[in-house]
Amino acid sequence: MPIATVNPATGETVKTFDALSEDAVRDRLALAASAFATYRTTAFAHRAELLRRAADLLEEDQDAVARTITTEMGKPLAAAGAEVAKCVKTLRWYAQHAERLLADERPAPDDVADAGAANAFVRYRPMGPVLAVMPWNFPLWQVVRFAAPALMAGNVGLLKHASNVPQTALYLEELFRRAGFPAGVFQTLLVGSGAIEGILRDPRVVAATLTGSEPAGRSVASIAGDEIKKTVLELGGSDPYVVLPSADVRRAAQVAVSARTQNAGQSCIAAKRFIVHDAVYDEFTDAFVAGMRALRVGDPMDADTDVGPLSSESGRSDLEELVDDALRHGATALCGGGRPADRTAGWFYEPTVLAHISADMRIHQEEAFGPVASLYRVADLDEAVNLANDTSFGLSSNAWTRDEGEQERLIRDLAAGGVFFNGMTASHPALPFGGVKRSGYGRELAGHGIREFCNATTVWYG
Ligand code: NDP
Repeated sequence: MPIATVNPATGETVKTFDALSEDAVRDRLALAASAFATYRTTAFAHRAELLRRAADLLEEDQDAVARTITTEMGKPLAAAGAEVAKCVKTLRWYAQHAERLLADERPAPDDVADAGAANAFVRYRPMGPVLAVMPWNFPLWQVVRFAAPALMAGNVGLLKHASNVPQTALYLEELFRRAGFPAGVFQTLLVGSGAIEGILRDPRVVAATLTGSEPAGRSVASIAGDEIKKTVLELGGSDPYVVLPSADVRRAAQVAVSARTQNAGQSCIAAKRFIVHDAVYDEFTDAFVAGMRALRVGDPMDADTDVGPLSSESGRSDLEELVDDALRHGATALCGGGRPADRTAGWFYEPTVLAHISADMRIHQEEAFGPVASLYRVADLDEAVNLANDTSFGLSSNAWTRDEGEQERLIRDLAAGGVFFNGMTASHPALPFGGVKRSGYGRELAGHGIREFCNATTVWYG
């Protein structure tokens, strides 16, 4: 894939970039290693000061950065601005909390008395240069959610960003440099995915994190496994959205529209499979379809737009194939089902609701990375849980019920990294984020995320 900014709203190539040469990559890995040698010894207070400065600079740049994001991957400008604001908040959050999250941990003296280790403790030490392979869908957020904890822990970051967001990628390197982080503490490597194996096998790179597709995750995990290097993977999902009779059905339908179409549906934690109890199915469906129909699809720079284009031509054709396969096998499009008639340029797709989904359709198992909802009718809670778990993914899940017994049952039985009641899944710096099954492993954010790339060192005094 060429490294280029191609505006998804028009299909026009705005700017192209040369990939770094192998020599240039080697120089940057050497710089990362030498930066780590000193950066690892800096105090939390110093790192926090730099991170706060990065937050301030990003806040000042908010409008310009939002325009770059919208130009590169097509989300509505207001959503891009919200993404920037969330990054500012997260940088500040880690500046404030990282030292506490990584404080020495002491076991209860009684627990270790038999080992003669009453003074033993655990210290979280940084590991070294960590490679981050990141996607285009939240091009600033995905990187900040890695970089803020990594840099606070004393690691250094190497970013291999998606090839369609090079300007955002370069901005991030520039941001951390302007904030005062020493040269080499955060670098963007403009390279294609073919260069990843060499980088990951380099002994100076100690670990990797990847957010993206299953094939990309499998490739990075197998190379890292071969090198015995730690990885964290976040590989998308097909989250269930269960609506039960005690729900506020109108509200559930309203939130379902946002949960499915945020970022034009290109979000790993977007609700994708709507599993609705028979008793409220008609009421939910009518309101949900009306809400999807009412969305304004259009120029993402326009303040009135709800849904922009998909990020790439191939992303749209993948989605079209999924929908066409479902329709061929007997699904019904309650709305949408194709390209909007009034948009000839760019990679737009209509908000779509598909009913009568069956197990032989690809969409029943695969992730629909666009504004396409799969709707299912179920007879009871057991059927809802079985259907919710009938997927190879397990990122997050949503359920609408006010019944505490049902809530406990769903917490126990939904196979996912999150269970969100009466609302839609969202990430927050203070809560762990990640999945089970083929959605990946490891956690980002909160204390769980920052400790993923730390050497939990046992210290023992004789
Ligand atoms: P990819 O997984 O291809 O891209 C994500 C990142 O991985 C990019 O930096 C990409 O680089 C890199 N990459 C691609 N192939 C490999 C590889 N073999 N080894 C290592 N790194 C690789 O996602 P796509 O953009 O192609 O989207 C395809 C599907 O992936 C989507 O439809 C969706 O299902 C899923 N996805 C999930 C995301 C999530 O948030 N979990 C985000 C994006 C996609 P380059 O751009 O240079 O190819």
